[in-house]
Amino acid sequence: MKKRILICKNEECQDEIIDYKSSKRLYCSDYCRNRDGYLRRLEDNKELIEISKGQKINYELLDRYAKAGIFEEEVSKLMKFGFNSKCLRLAKYYEINGRNCTCFSIKDILFEFDEEKELIIIHKSKHKIK
Ligand SMILES: [Zn+2]
Repeated sequence: MKKRILICKNEECQDEIIDYKSSKRLYCSDYCRNRDGYLRRLEDNKELIEISKGQKINYELLDRYAKAGIFEEEVSKLMKFGFNSKCLRLAKYYEINGRNCTCFSIKDILFEFDEEKELIIIHKSKHKIK
């Protein structure tokens, strides 16, 4: 039976892996294995950096609103100012005024997406004193 053709997983290489002993082999060389690991970590980092950048912008935006005493704003308007809904941390569930809310938090700010009214509602902030 003919041997299966294996291609090196390093995107910069993608050479055929010749003369391999195990068909589970992923890379043509140690260099390629290390390089691929490095590139993957870089990619992960880039994503993390993007997310934390987005988080920072989101926080600054919401904090400015809270500071001005505004605790509700249209999502579309916030988006125009650079709000990035892709950079939200995992949602948490809270019961607020007897209602179950899906909230997101960044630092001292806890906010909710009201999908029906297309609003972002800030429930908690260092500027919001109940
Ligand atoms: Zn290779």
